[in-house]
This record gives sequence, C-alpha cells and structure tokens, in this order.
Amino acid sequence: MKCRKCGGTAVLELRRHNAAFCAPDFLDFFRNQVREAIRKHRMLEPEEQVLVAVSGARTRSRSGTC
Ligand SMILES: [Zn+2]
Repeated sequence: MKCRKCGGTAVLELRRHNAAFCAPDFLDFFRNQVREAIRKHRMLEPEEQVLVAVSGARTRSRSGTC
C-alpha cells in the first residue's frame, strides 16, 4: 500500500476517500479536511477558543467551541 501523495509506504488506508497515506501526509490531509469543513460550515470566528476531542472509534470525531 503506497501513499497517494508521496508514493512512500502508507500506514493508513481511507477507503471512503479511496486513498492511503504515510503518517506525515495523513496529518496534512486531515488538517486540510478539518480546515475546509470549518470554512465551509462557518464553524468558527477568528480568535475563538476551541476544544477538540477525538474518540477511539475510527469513524467518530467531534469538535466544539468553549
Ligand atoms: Zn506520503
């Protein structure tokens, strides 16, 4: 299994996105997904404080304002 971005050895496969990533490229992918979701749904205002919690279930993650 090869990383979609760099072609290196992938450590994670995301079937929903038909992709696999090495650790550094998965972090980039994940950050971009979160950034785009926040922007698209206008979840946050500038300077707003954020608490993020991630569960052990691989399909569940949540974030909220505090
Ligand atoms: Zn990679």
